[in-house]
Amino acid sequence: MSTETPLDLKKTVNLPKTAFSQKANLAQSEPARLEKWAGLDLYRLIRRTCEGREKFILHDGPPYANADIHLGTAMNKVLKDFIVKSRTMMGYDSPYVPGYDCHGLPIETHVERALEKKGKKKSDLSVETFRRICREHALNALQSQTRDFKRLGILGEWDDPYLTMSNHYEAETARMFGRFVERGWVYKGARPVYWCLKDQTALAEAEVEYHQHTSPSVYVKFPLQSDPALIDPALAGRKVFVLIWTTTPWTLPANLGIAVHPDFEYSAFEYGDEVYIVASELVEAVAAKCGLGAAPKVLARFPGAKLDRLECRHAWLDRKSLLMVGEHVTLGGEADAETELDVSEAQKKPSDSKAGTGCVHTAPGHGHDDFVIGKRYGLEIYCPVDNAGRFTPDVEHFAGQRVFDANDPIVEFMRERGVLLFSEKYEHRYPHCWRCKNPVIFRATPQWFIAMDQAHTELVEKDEDGRDLTNFTENFAENGSLRSAALEEIERVKWIPAWGVDRMRNMLKGRPDWCVSRQRVWGVSIPVFYCARCNEAVADAAVIDHVADIFERESGDAWYTRSAQDLLPPGYTCKGCGAEEWTKETDILDVWFDSGTSSIAVLENRPELRWPSDVYIEGGDQFRGWFNSSLMVGIAAHNRAPYKAVITHGWTLDAQGRAMHKSAGNAVEPDKVFKQLGAEIIRLWCASSNYFDDVRGSDEILQRVTDGYRKMRNTARFALGNLDGFDPAGDSVPFEEMQEIDRWALAELNRVTADVLAAYDAYEFHNVYRALFNFATVTLSARYFDIIKDRLYTFAPRDKARRSAQTALLRIADALARMLAPILVFTADEIWENLPNRDKPSIHLAVFPTATADRDESLLTEWDRLFAIRDDVLRALEEARVAKQIGSSLEAKVTLEASGEALELLRRHEKDLRYLFIVSQVELHEAQAQRVAIAISAAEGKKCERCWNYSTRVGESDRYPTVCERCIAALEEIEREG
Ligand SMILES: [Zn+2]
Ligand SMILES: [Zn+2]
Ligand SMILES: [Zn+2]
Repeated sequence: MSTETPLDLKKTVNLPKTAFSQKANLAQSEPARLEKWAGLDLYRLIRRTCEGREKFILHDGPPYANADIHLGTAMNKVLKDFIVKSRTMMGYDSPYVPGYDCHGLPIETHVERALEKKGKKKSDLSVETFRRICREHALNALQSQTRDFKRLGILGEWDDPYLTMSNHYEAETARMFGRFVERGWVYKGARPVYWCLKDQTALAEAEVEYHQHTSPSVYVKFPLQSDPALIDPALAGRKVFVLIWTTTPWTLPANLGIAVHPDFEYSAFEYGDEVYIVASELVEAVAAKCGLGAAPKVLARFPGAKLDRLECRHAWLDRKSLLMVGEHVTLGGEADAETELDVSEAQKKPSDSKAGTGCVHTAPGHGHDDFVIGKRYGLEIYCPVDNAGRFTPDVEHFAGQRVFDANDPIVEFMRERGVLLFSEKYEHRYPHCWRCKNPVIFRATPQWFIAMDQAHTELVEKDEDGRDLTNFTENFAENGSLRSAALEEIERVKWIPAWGVDRMRNMLKGRPDWCVSRQRVWGVSIPVFYCARCNEAVADAAVIDHVADIFERESGDAWYTRSAQDLLPPGYTCKGCGAEEWTKETDILDVWFDSGTSSIAVLENRPELRWPSDVYIEGGDQFRGWFNSSLMVGIAAHNRAPYKAVITHGWTLDAQGRAMHKSAGNAVEPDKVFKQLGAEIIRLWCASSNYFDDVRGSDEILQRVTDGYRKMRNTARFALGNLDGFDPAGDSVPFEEMQEIDRWALAELNRVTADVLAAYDAYEFHNVYRALFNFATVTLSARYFDIIKDRLYTFAPRDKARRSAQTALLRIADALARMLAPILVFTADEIWENLPNRDKPSIHLAVFPTATADRDESLLTEWDRLFAIRDDVLRALEEARVAKQIGSSLEAKVTLEASGEALELLRRHEKDLRYLFIVSQVELHEAQAQRVAIAISAAEGKKCERCWNYSTRVGESDRYPTVCERCIAALEEIEREG
């Protein structure tokens, strides 16, 4: 033994040491790490590392470049980052090119309002100047969004995102319109579309939202002009009226017909000297509502088909109203609105089976079903309402009035005329403009459409200026219908969750032709020309490609800066009359057409990407939006969907399940979270929630997530702290020579690795989180770490038993960091930095750990049983502590009585039991007992000053009189090795 002075005991304990701090300080440390990544050019470094690997392409749905990001935008992008990073770590090459949707109405409106504030009008500026301001606004907005997305730790091509307003993109948008033209799927026609009176433009299906709205509900009588005896002899000579019901009295001046169902039974019933026709099932309800007596006398019953092509007179105008039969007629509610709703909207819609008469007021210029049946019966598509929603001069009595303002006067007018039977206020779900939130109307105006079915049925041969439009649809027959191709294609796509395919199928089955024209300027112009002399319209794919090449060089502004002749190929002459003078179409394309083009404009344009993509992931509103428009363009270009899989995520709501609004004060603002808690907390919140459903967020919820974060951080910190001075190459213990509990920990690691990799593969990030959280807090913190602490702290540093635990700890910390990396991008990188074995400058260049296929099941089962006994022992120790029998568990001795298998199990691990229970002594006896019997008593001997265990052998050493025999051995080793 050494003759030097004895060692200072405190200094011989191996206390944990690491630069990985307990406090995360994410708000400060995250920006520093982002700078470090920028210095490494980390995204580019990942690209180089992944070169040559199999590709996995997530195609980014472009957020609208108008405002700052909110929690929903953050979640969308974070989920995408989870996918890209996890696929990268699975061994794919997964580049991420983010994009921005830059054109469209919201930006125009914003710029108009900004101009108004400066006392200027849009009309004061040239179109080019106005477009330049829109472009600048979009650029500013997208730069601020980019800053926030980077702050969230999302890696991608941020220096060169795709912009729908870039020259190349605008050119491709025009070219894709050409592809539709080529296939004969484009036509210009007048059919009703959603129309915003305030913004004075057509709106796409995806641009309307349904909200509660109060309308007047009216029952109106239309006198039958045809001979009533044609319906039933009993009605001969009677004054007969067909009763209609509507919630849009303002559409009555445009009434041209009444639709009934051919197979429903209708009744003619008497009231005074008049006879009214309604569906038999509704006779009593209508009579009660309109005060027509309790038991109306029915004169005749007949199928609706009997009324086909008979004529009524308009309720007050000198004009006929044709009786027609249609399958769309229902016995209640608003059939027309229903067809425009997708499944979820329809489910939310309260059904009002009491309303209606079974005779449907039909105005072909103001409703989708009205239009379809009106076309079939050869009615005019009559729409006497101008862009601003005022009646045109040919509307008697109401010319110049705004339609919504005209509702009440029309109701009053009908009451005075004696044609109104009843009116009341009526609450229903009604479409509103997504932008200005005002109720919209259905209005037929000349618009460009993409035909879902047969284009020619809805083709108008001349537009409002008498221009000839007949030459677009000649290729239609050979290409078949877009709807059938789309319906076929969606069955080949993997929808996650699986109900996505039903939602998509329902949407596609019901959707009307796609109205792609907008009466606006901030977008890609519809590249069509009209002959100035004979009015022939030129929509020709070769001409469009020529124009697109100009856009490619000069941007879409060329449509406004160049003359028509300058845009057409040189010497282009009119096929109809040989003239060379042209005018340009003034409408632009729907922004959904823009974003629908992205797969072509981006995936096919960048060498690191490919078409089709592997996956799209967006919110449920994109079934009608981007999922749909992308599919349409994919089919026009390649007869294929542009995605192999589509994932849908839910909405972000507040803690009570309400939508978040800044004005309501319940919005969680990402920017504030960055500064208070750190972006990592938003990321962990995304992972902790099941995003397939709606996801709830609030300050309190984020606080809970922060607590979870802290626990995981502490777990990592324990592992790192105990790896101080560990040299993986020289100090690792071979697996077979490791202590059994260390091998057990690695078997548990293997189990969690398999679960986590499977969850990543299935995009189930909440299951990744749950598995890792349980592993960190239960398996590691509450069990393994507790048990190995004594060995790590009190054994000599180089003791093989200690090295065994460290070998396991390194494997665990390394694997934990890798598995956390897609989610906790900052923290995992920080763990990585503090690992002794890291071989790359960032964890984001590493791959996932692998799980071995053959799990050590017998080891796991054996230890599961030991831990069950441990739980009982810990409970008994707790009781003893409460009873003041013992203080800390090291003051205890545990006596176990067992028999049979349990006894054998305990015998096999007899030496480990005191460490397993964290007590100073364990005694094991054989006794006939069903369960293991546990007795707690005070430990024998004295407390060792160094390890705090009790031992009867404390005091055996003269050199170290206050320590136990285990510590003496450790101290001798320390002295020997220095
Ligand atoms: Zn609007
Ligand atoms: Zn001509
Ligand atoms: Zn000791």
